Amino acid sequence: MHRYDLISCHDCGVLHMRRPVRPREKARCVRCRSVLYRGIYSDASRMAAITMGAVFTFLIAQFFPIVQLDVGGYSTSATLLGAIRVLWTEHMELVAAVVFLFTMVLPAVELGSLLYVTLSLRKGRRPPGFDHLLRAVGLARRWGMTEVLMIGILITIVKMTSLAEVIVQPGVFAFGALTLMLAIVVSFDPKILWNIGEHLPGPRRVAQKTFHYAALTKGAPLLACHACGLVESLKYTVRHQYCARCGARLHRRHPDSVGRTWAFLLAAAILYIPANLLPVMYTHSLFGKEDDTIISGVVYFWTSGSPALAVIIFIASIVVPVLKLAALALLAWTTQRRSRWQPLQRTALYRVVEFVGRWSMLDIFVITLTVALVRFQSLAVITAGPGALAFCAVVVLTMIASMQFDPRLIWDPIDTHGEKHV
Ligand SMILES: [Zn+2]
Ligand SMILES: [Zn+2]
Repeated sequence: MHRYDLISCHDCGVLHMRRPVRPREKARCVRCRSVLYRGIYSDASRMAAITMGAVFTFLIAQFFPIVQLDVGGYSTSATLLGAIRVLWTEHMELVAAVVFLFTMVLPAVELGSLLYVTLSLRKGRRPPGFDHLLRAVGLARRWGMTEVLMIGILITIVKMTSLAEVIVQPGVFAFGALTLMLAIVVSFDPKILWNIGEHLPGPRRVAQKTFHYAALTKGAPLLACHACGLVESLKYTVRHQYCARCGARLHRRHPDSVGRTWAFLLAAAILYIPANLLPVMYTHSLFGKEDDTIISGVVYFWTSGSPALAVIIFIASIVVPVLKLAALALLAWTTQRRSRWQPLQRTALYRVVEFVGRWSMLDIFVITLTVALVRFQSLAVITAGPGALAFCAVVVLTMIASMQFDPRLIWDPIDTHGEKHV
């Protein structure tokens, strides 16, 4: 048995033997039902072809305008980069940097790294930098938000139709196609690519030369690498242990998980107040100056005949952040008390929090595009307000808080009946 045949559940730590699953099938944890891995066509040529398609679509999406607005003889249009630049020049540098990172840099890192890796795997070689690039893919994927941006674009288009004539540009279709392609690319799990690369020739870390022949130390506790999934024995002789395959620092549980979760949660809860009270947008028009808060944006859609959009924005911007703060507080509090209450439901709650967190960025993307489009000099100009900065900080801080929380801590107080947990 090779060590990479063992897989530890990310959410509860139960150790499983990896078995082959058919494409589109999922292997689930026997205890908490979380998805351990998915079956994919582990054919590197196919992966490289799909990734290549996604890279081209990504480039078209970035450099073509998304929409054009015509009103009273004036015309404006915006590319994603142009919209970010407008936000930057209006002294919303932090928000602009966050939008740039989530919608351009991280998807580019994910796609670029995957393309490089899959092209090499296709040729039957493990390329230099294989481990670092796959770790980058894992990280970029957690923060890349192309699908959220796509919904943001659609909401902006609907919103603008009441103000001006909207002409949809090629960028929209490219973003639509990119969203669909990324849904396939996301199934190229770095952990599976690591296992494919394992058997191929190519540069290796020194420690890797023998690692998969070495048996696990009998009786020693096991550690699972959070990046590549390799399960190893805890070494008592070293102070800090690093993964023999990918070099990531190993921990049995995230260090100071609950304390850090509370810290980020508290910061997010405090900023949630200005995020809702301060204006997120200012509208300067012929009729004077108007301030928009998040809730007034929801009211606007509700009263202007788009109740569906009002509900989407209300859920994404108001309900999700509040529920997320409450859910994380509940998880941190029960874990701190080593509660044995409803571990399965609490793990499921954690998965929901992880899944929905990114969707709160929706309003920030709508603001970014709106600010770039509504620039009709004497007629109407919309600028971003300080509420947008506070709201953006709330979303990022709650996402960090949920990443700091280690769901395996939920299961630690529960009797393991001799099963192997990592
Ligand atoms: Zn599990
Ligand atoms: Zn690793």
